[in-house]
Amino acid sequence: MNNQHFQTPIEYLKGVGLSRADVLKKELQIYNFEDLLRHFPYKYIDRTRFYKVKDIQPDLPYVQVLARLTKKEIIGEKRTKRLVAQAHDDTGPIELVWFQGIKWVEKMLVPGKVYVIFGKPGFFNNKAQMAHPEMELYLPGMQQQKGNLMLQPAYNSTEKLKQFTLDSKGLQKLIAALLEQHAKDIHENLPAYILNRFKLVGRQEAYRNIHFPNDANQLKEAQYRLKFEELFFLQLKLLKTKLTRTQKFKGNIFESVGNYFNEFYHHKLPFKLTNSQKRVLKEIRLDTQRGVQMNRLLQGDVGSGKTVVALMSMLIAIDNGFQTCIMAPTEILANQHYQTIKSLVGEGFIEIALLTGSVPNKARKVIHEKLEDGTLNILIGTHALIEDKVKYKNLGLVVIDEQHRFGVEQRAKLWRKNVVPPHILVMTATPIPRTLAMTMYGDLDISVIDELPAGRKPIQTLHYYEAKRLRMFGFMKDEIAKGRQIYVVYPLIKESEKLDLKNLMDGTEIMSREFPLPNYRISIVHGKLKPAEKDFEMQRFVKGETQIMVATTVIEVGVNIPNASVMIIENAERFGLSQLHQLRGRVGRGAEQSYCILMSSEKLSRDGRIRLNTMVKTNNGFEIAEIDMQLRGPGNIEGTQQSGVLDLKVADLTTDQEILQQARNCVIEIFEKDPQLAAPENQILNLAFQAKNAGLSWDKIS
Ligand code: ADP
Ligand code: MG
Repeated sequence: MNNQHFQTPIEYLKGVGLSRADVLKKELQIYNFEDLLRHFPYKYIDRTRFYKVKDIQPDLPYVQVLARLTKKEIIGEKRTKRLVAQAHDDTGPIELVWFQGIKWVEKMLVPGKVYVIFGKPGFFNNKAQMAHPEMELYLPGMQQQKGNLMLQPAYNSTEKLKQFTLDSKGLQKLIAALLEQHAKDIHENLPAYILNRFKLVGRQEAYRNIHFPNDANQLKEAQYRLKFEELFFLQLKLLKTKLTRTQKFKGNIFESVGNYFNEFYHHKLPFKLTNSQKRVLKEIRLDTQRGVQMNRLLQGDVGSGKTVVALMSMLIAIDNGFQTCIMAPTEILANQHYQTIKSLVGEGFIEIALLTGSVPNKARKVIHEKLEDGTLNILIGTHALIEDKVKYKNLGLVVIDEQHRFGVEQRAKLWRKNVVPPHILVMTATPIPRTLAMTMYGDLDISVIDELPAGRKPIQTLHYYEAKRLRMFGFMKDEIAKGRQIYVVYPLIKESEKLDLKNLMDGTEIMSREFPLPNYRISIVHGKLKPAEKDFEMQRFVKGETQIMVATTVIEVGVNIPNASVMIIENAERFGLSQLHQLRGRVGRGAEQSYCILMSSEKLSRDGRIRLNTMVKTNNGFEIAEIDMQLRGPGNIEGTQQSGVLDLKVADLTTDQEILQQARNCVIEIFEKDPQLAAPENQILNLAFQAKNAGLSWDKIS
């Protein structure tokens, strides 16, 4: 396609003109030919099938019936004047009504003849009815006629556009005109060898057929081609970014595995690594000796043991004379990493410090000094550790926990902390579906820990309706009698914070009545508490002084209290799947059998039911993430907002996993053979790629 040509403002398309151009711009952001061409149908109306009148439901979209016209009459006066016709098939009658164009339609209709009647069905006095249907005289064999649209495209439109006769039909006409006049300017942008290999139809054909397919097969081919193209160029961009980065930035070379690592591995590590952990360590080891900067994402479910992998990677860095740091999104988490790592390595082994906003100035100064003179090996903290005044002597590896709270910009800031940018290991406990990972983090390498350490008892999850509340209380008492601690979580949703606080307070009251002093003690934690109060309450629970912690979702991330083995989630139907999974991950950290009880009302939406059933059925975070994406769509998954996922117009990450994988593999192969896209057969790609990145419309057409 000729880029310039399709950038022509929409008013220059024949039949558009200034006023219609104006509404097209305002209502649909259609500014030029390209925008119109890429205003794809949101569905296709199947004109190959006829509905029986008796099967018509009020909520059906457009349908087609084949019926004989029996009667027509114009009734009413002036403003109530209308044309009413009767038709029936072998299952019953349908009434057809026109309020406009009455005379003209009346002349055309011939009682006794059979018509293809097409429109949106409704009901009036319990009788099937259609207002302003399209009527076409039925001729035997007409279905096979050329030019008869079997799959009619339906386009999004608006009330405003309809005033300018740009309803779905009107838009269809415009697009047909555009294709008729300009399709020849749609140029191929994939090389022939790719077209052949993946059996892709040409670009012109694809654009034609996605709007006006003759049959389902043609439509499928057109969609496949355009989806492939879209995903291919997105992957080309991501992998090019990665390639450029490796060419531009040298990476620190961690020559050898030395004493720190070996000492830890042989004498301090209190358990055997899982195979997944070993595999990931090997991947990191390979990355860090190539002389290229590592950018790796480590995905692993809660409790899969990412921290120890991070620590052992850091020990390799330290073995090679480098400093390292871990950045966590909250103070609580930073603190927890600090405690965990300190207890894993023991006293006097390496120099570790915690730097957060609440570290007093004096102590902070000491940390800064030790960073600059190189005596500090591991710095753990929040954002505070990437502030400009924090200077490292030789930062070799950065571990970022819980990626999606940090932006790309913050990552970039870290790179500038050293002459040679440090290796970066991003850890996330929120598993993302593979397709999403390949798109959001397509410029990173991805490692997955997909097993839990051996011997861990899977958390048992139960779903109780309100009616079983007494049984739930009984269960809580049994567990407390065994010495366990329990979380009770209430939803916190921003829009109704007041209501949620009330729920929490009411809930607390009920709990206090059910679990009275002096036998029972309850901690209460919510967002309205001052940090010191919150901390005090948390500490009471951590120390085991209270048996129950009633909380809003503030406890969602981080907290590690092995003795807390029961998680009760109130109004569980109000939580998203990934949040439920995160919350459940707070238990199951000790040796005891852990439980998660999802309390809900009897009334559940379809999605709510699927969410709760999924939780009961599986503990696997990746499976849960997959279902979450199917329920909510990729654009609503946490962290996807800035990732380009939303710019996809044809491809859909929930359904097009296979095409994505094909496209990505294809790009990888191309870059392996021809990193500069200099080969003659790749010229076409090079040009398209440059045009996309130079122009304003990267994710559109070139
Ligand atoms: P996460 O992936 O959620 O960060 P952690 O690193 O906090 O998980 O590990 C969870 C718990 O499992 C910790 O107490 C850790 O010491 C323990 N752990 C990690 N790896 C293993 C292993 N291979 N065998 C047994 N326990 C392990
Ligand atoms: Mg962790």
